[in-house]
Amino acid sequence: MAGICCSVVGDSEPASARVDSVTRTSLKPSLKRRLDLLPSIKIVAKSAVAPPKRQKREKTSPGSTVTNSNSAESRYFSSDDAPKIGTTSVCGRRRDMEDAVSLHPSLLLHKKSENLHFYGVFDGHGCSHVAEKCRERLHEIVKQEAMTNGDDWKETMVKSFKKMDSEVSRRDSNGANRSSSCRCELQSPQCDAVGSTAVVSVITPEKIVVSNCGDSRAVLCRNGVAIPLSSDHKPDRPDELNRIQEAGGRVIYWDGARVLGVLAMSRAIGDNYLKPYVIPDPEVTVTDRTDDDECLILASDGLWDVVTNETACGVARMCLKGAAAAAEGGGDCDTAHNACSDAALLLTKLALARQSSDNVSVVVVDLRKRSNY
Ligand SMILES: [Zn+2]
Repeated sequence: MAGICCSVVGDSEPASARVDSVTRTSLKPSLKRRLDLLPSIKIVAKSAVAPPKRQKREKTSPGSTVTNSNSAESRYFSSDDAPKIGTTSVCGRRRDMEDAVSLHPSLLLHKKSENLHFYGVFDGHGCSHVAEKCRERLHEIVKQEAMTNGDDWKETMVKSFKKMDSEVSRRDSNGANRSSSCRCELQSPQCDAVGSTAVVSVITPEKIVVSNCGDSRAVLCRNGVAIPLSSDHKPDRPDELNRIQEAGGRVIYWDGARVLGVLAMSRAIGDNYLKPYVIPDPEVTVTDRTDDDECLILASDGLWDVVTNETACGVARMCLKGAAAAAEGGGDCDTAHNACSDAALLLTKLALARQSSDNVSVVVVDLRKRSNY
C-alpha cells in the first residue's frame, strides 16, 4: 500500500511488470462481452492481469485449500455449507507485492454446530512480511481465541489482533520473523518500520463479524445498498486525530495526512516505531445476517481509492445476478463460485482501469441464504 511516503513507486512502472496473482482469469462469455463494452478496462486489464494458467479449476476435497507456490495465486474451495467465495490479488503498478489474502472456510465448528468461516485482507507497508505473517497466523489465533471467548466477538478479535501484533513485533537477531522474500534488511531501522492493515471477517450462520485495523475495508451489499462494515483508520479522522494528539503524537500533512509525517493510517499491525500513536486495536462490528444480504466485499485501498462502495456493490451484484440468471437456464453448481470470482476479477480490473497505483486485493463472499444453486 501507499502507506509509507518513502516507498511510492513511480507511475512509469509498467502495469505488466509484476502481476503476482489472479484467482481466475477465464471469464464467462457474457461477462467478457460486458467487459468488452468498456474499452479502457479491456486494455489495462490485458496488460495488468496474467493470462489464464489453467482453464479447469482444480478439484479438491471439501474444506481443503489449494495454493500455488509459484505465485501469490490462491484458489480455495469450501465445504458445501460454506459461503461461495472469489478472490483476486494483483501487484498492479507497484514494484512490490505487499498485499496478502487469507481464506479459511469452515475454520471452526463453534458451539458444536455453528460452522465459522474466516476471510481476511492484509495490506502491508515497508515490506511484505507483516502481511504475510497475518496471512499465515491470524486465523489460527482467532480460532484459539474464539474457543476461549465464545460469542464475545469483540473480546476475541481485540485479543487476536494484539497477539498478532506481538508476534510480528517479536524480533530476533536472525531475522527469523521475516519471510524469504523480505526486503526489509534494505531499510532502517529494519523491521520496526514494517506493518500491515488487517480487515478480517468471521461469518457465522447468523452474524457477520468484521474486525478492522487500517485502511482496508469491508462493505456489505444488502438488497442493492452498500453498507460499510468498517471505518478506515485515517490519521485525520477526527477521533483518531484526537487520540494521536492525546498520546503526544502529531499528524503532519505530507502527501496527505500522516502520523509523524510518515504513515498514512492511524492503526496497523506492526509499526513498532510509531507506537503508541499507531495502535493494533481493531474496531469490531457484529451485524445480523438477513435474507436481503447479497455479498460481502473485503478489499485493500488499491480498490477503495478509485472505486466507491456503491460502485463496488453494483458490480458484485451484477455478477451474482448474472450467474443466477445463468443457473435458471441450466448452469451447474459451480456457478456461484464463478460469480464471486468474476466479481473479484471485474472489480480488480476496474481499479486498474481507473489507474489505481497500488496493489489490489479483493475478496467477494456470497451471503445469499437462499441460493438458486
Ligand atoms: Zn521483511
